[in-house]
Amino acid sequence: MIDIETFTSEARQWLDENAKLRSTNDEGQREPKWGEGEFSVAVFHNLSFEEEKAIITDAMKWTQRKAEVGYHKITWEPEYGGMGLTKEHEKAFFKLESEYDTPGGHETHSVTTHLMAPSIRLLGTDQQKKDWVHKWAGAQEMCCQLFSEPSAGSDLASVATKADKDGDEWILNGQKVWSSGAQFSEWGMAVCRSDSDLPKHKGITVFIIPMDAPGVEIRQIRQMSGGTSFNEVFLTDVRVPDTYRIGDIGEGWKVALTVLGFERGSSNGSSRVGGNWAQAKSLAEHLNLTDDPVVRDQLARLYSQYRIMVLNTQRVVAQTKAGQAPGPEGSISKMIWVKSMNLMSDVITKILGPRITADTGEWGTYEWNEHLLGAPGYRIAGGSDEIQRNIVGERVLGLPGEPRVDKNIPYKDVLK
Ligand SMILES: Cc1cc2nc3c(=O)[nH]c(=O)nc-3n(C[C@H](O)[C@H](O)[C@H](O)COP(=O)(O)OP(=O)(O)OC[C@H]3O[C@@H](n4cnc5c(N)ncnc54)[C@H](O)[C@@H]3O)c2cc1C
Repeated sequence: MIDIETFTSEARQWLDENAKLRSTNDEGQREPKWGEGEFSVAVFHNLSFEEEKAIITDAMKWTQRKAEVGYHKITWEPEYGGMGLTKEHEKAFFKLESEYDTPGGHETHSVTTHLMAPSIRLLGTDQQKKDWVHKWAGAQEMCCQLFSEPSAGSDLASVATKADKDGDEWILNGQKVWSSGAQFSEWGMAVCRSDSDLPKHKGITVFIIPMDAPGVEIRQIRQMSGGTSFNEVFLTDVRVPDTYRIGDIGEGWKVALTVLGFERGSSNGSSRVGGNWAQAKSLAEHLNLTDDPVVRDQLARLYSQYRIMVLNTQRVVAQTKAGQAPGPEGSISKMIWVKSMNLMSDVITKILGPRITADTGEWGTYEWNEHLLGAPGYRIAGGSDEIQRNIVGERVLGLPGEPRVDKNIPYKDVLK
């Protein structure tokens, strides 16, 4: 296996050829320079369809370029387009990559590459793996998550979207909601009810749906942060072949849990959404507030919180082997990340005061408004804070489970 030093030097050469090194500030660090360039700390985009599509296309192109070499999935086996190397190689690449100007991320891109591709790699049939893993991991196409419904969010096992078998096909009917990026996706993974006579967790089956199939209707939802990255997705007599079923009939709950595990595990602050500690510090410096004892105290809290997040991410990375199904530790990562992001909003709001609600035109100030309005969303997405605490309580601390009155009752008899 290639040693880290040689790997790093080859990766550096590749990055030099494919991206521009970010400029350094006066102290020689690659931190943002106050007043220069585009400033965005948005958690969700507030853009038109075309503008948001352009962001996704840029992110896809960068991943596609990395996928030509295998830098997009360094620890994966070569048969799935990876390099078959270690987490240390991957870490070394991420560190190097962060020194370069590369396209920013997007939720849909991240759902496809970090949730959907690994889940199919773990649970798909040989044909499904051949059809989708490389394509999705390498961001050639996008796949959204059609899990939540109006009456099934935290209690996802209550999904009502019906899946009826008809020969070699299934007919799907129902409504999904909060489906991020459905309007930009070629595919969707839908959690459906295939048997209402069984208790709720047992009659679920998961399917991949082509988003342009007849009967799929996507309606965008306007968010408080301005944009429309979420959708309602209505499924009316949508036909999918049985070969698009993921896992066994009635075993969809395991599939959903695997995807959610990847979601929690990947929500660890490694993405670039929502600003960073260095930007918060620059703001306080620019406003001459770093001698203010209250601001200093808040910045110290923020810094500590971000350090905890980094250390926890390192712990999870060290614990998980490549490809292994993620465990409940993903819930801890998610909670720490969300707490860090929301603390950032609190601290910045105190530092900026009225500037966060009134645009003075001053660079790098009012833009934090987009952070403030977006950060709470991640307290809910991928399982709310309360649900993460339940998981940690039950599966890490071994506390008694929540009372579940509908546990052994057929789904059709559960009070709705
Ligand atoms: C930014 C964002 C992106 C999203 N993207 C997607 C997506 O791409 N695809 C998708 O399918 N869904 C998506 N969702 C939906 C998300 O998964 C659900 O919103 C989430 O699971 C919560 O479900 P709910 O909204 O129905 O709230 P509910 O489940 O109705 O919860 C309401 C409140 O009750 C609390 N609560 C519920 N049950 C319990 C319990 N047992 N113990 C303690 N408290 C409880 C919750 O914590 C919450 O505070 C997204 C949501 C957000 C905010």
